[in-house]
Amino acid sequence: MKSGVFFERDGVLNLAKVERGHQVSPRSLDEFEVNAEALEPLQKLKAAGFVLVATTNQPGLSRGYLPRRELDRMHALLKQRLPLDDILVCPHDETDRCPCRKPQTGLLLEGAFKWHLELERCYIVSDKWQDAQAAHVAGCSSLLLKSPWIGKGHQDFVVMNLSEVVTKIQQLQSASMLLMHQS
Ligand SMILES: [Zn+2]
Repeated sequence: MKSGVFFERDGVLNLAKVERGHQVSPRSLDEFEVNAEALEPLQKLKAAGFVLVATTNQPGLSRGYLPRRELDRMHALLKQRLPLDDILVCPHDETDRCPCRKPQTGLLLEGAFKWHLELERCYIVSDKWQDAQAAHVAGCSSLLLKSPWIGKGHQDFVVMNLSEVVTKIQQLQSASMLLMHQS
């Protein structure tokens, strides 16, 4: 079983516009801007042996304002620019009551199954409470990037940026190695 790091997409791996206090997901390749600051942290985690998976709620697919073809083009670009192993998408609207729309855990379970990941040894990186909630239920550790959307629910760690994410994960990994050697 391997360890993985799950990343929220919007606002973490790509830049997201903010309108009236909410992030707005890009609807076309033209609007899609990869977060250049994510490259080095992801390369470090990849080199440390983690499977890297992006997860994203994209209700625009079922609401009809995000064409699948456009999303595929954005994700091809994202995979080209960042060393991601996979990108998992919930295409549903909240009214669909699906098991994959975050804060539900469906995308984490799908990623764990597909990539043979042990969820207790996985980390979730996001700027939103929904991912921390899903992490908590699934048994992963969450690292929240400080933002207006982290809420007041369960939080394992709050950090300022993606390079702090790498430092924190390295600390947690060496602490758990130490525990394994002691027992
Ligand atoms: Zn869904």
